[in-house]
Amino acid sequence: MIKLACDDCVYAFSKDNKPALRIKSGDIVEIQTMDCFAGQLISETDKLSEIDFDRINPITGPIYIEGAREGDTLKVTIEKIETGDRGVMCTGAGQGVLGDIMEGFSEKIVGLDGNYAFFSDKLKLLLNKMIGVIGVAPKDGEASSRAPGSHGGNMDNKMITEKAAVYFPVFTDGAFFALGDVHAAMGDGEVGGSGIEVPAQVTVKLEIVNNIKLVNPFVENENFISTVASALRIEDAVHTAVYDMDNLLKGKLTLCGYDRSMLLSAVGNVEICQVINSLKTVRFNVPKRIGGFLWVS
Ligand code: CA
Ligand code: ZN
Repeated sequence: MIKLACDDCVYAFSKDNKPALRIKSGDIVEIQTMDCFAGQLISETDKLSEIDFDRINPITGPIYIEGAREGDTLKVTIEKIETGDRGVMCTGAGQGVLGDIMEGFSEKIVGLDGNYAFFSDKLKLLLNKMIGVIGVAPKDGEASSRAPGSHGGNMDNKMITEKAAVYFPVFTDGAFFALGDVHAAMGDGEVGGSGIEVPAQVTVKLEIVNNIKLVNPFVENENFISTVASALRIEDAVHTAVYDMDNLLKGKLTLCGYDRSMLLSAVGNVEICQVINSLKTVRFNVPKRIGGFLWVS
């Protein structure tokens, strides 16, 4: 197994970053990630107000995929997400949707076992391990690891979990893939501004597949396919995600625009990924089987 340690971390997706690893399409890599605070909050005496904010959202990489060319599609299959035995959460004044009900900041260390997070003596929460930041380099310049976009990035999409596959448009030769910001649990919206933030070991298979052409990321799991879009306003993100799905449907089924609109209205689910980053992210999920018919494979 190829391994990549988290001493190779960066804070932006960019082809100007020196590759931490070069692999071939089809290789499986075990990637170690720091938590989104780069390990600066490890006890409840560490204060959010005192950390170095230039070190938020470290991502491990970039990984250069030999042979990946601009215009290709990168398929990333999430084989495994392993976390340690503790995570951290924080929130406070101006953070998240309830930012105006708090005056200071609060940090919480949350113990984890294989299945649960111990939020308090009385509250034990089921884990839903997922990857917050994952993506490729944009065509030019850099994309901060705090921002989501067509290259992926800080999408905070709960569907990006074990057994799912994420597809990215490749904008630059080599793709320059990286990931980080793993959560032991997070709800749709990430309304308080953090999930249960954890360092992790993520095993992914990276392959170039060219049976699908994309302009934005796309997620697939056993039962659903899902277009993902980010924009300043939720409505604009919904518009892009639904349009992208319609384009996909158009290539697979011979239905007129009226029927596609009605079909997507009957079976598609608009879901929110996050509402707390600069751009907001939504996904549009459509079952792979519609009325028993497998329309996409
Ligand atoms: Ca995030
Ligand atoms: Zn996070």
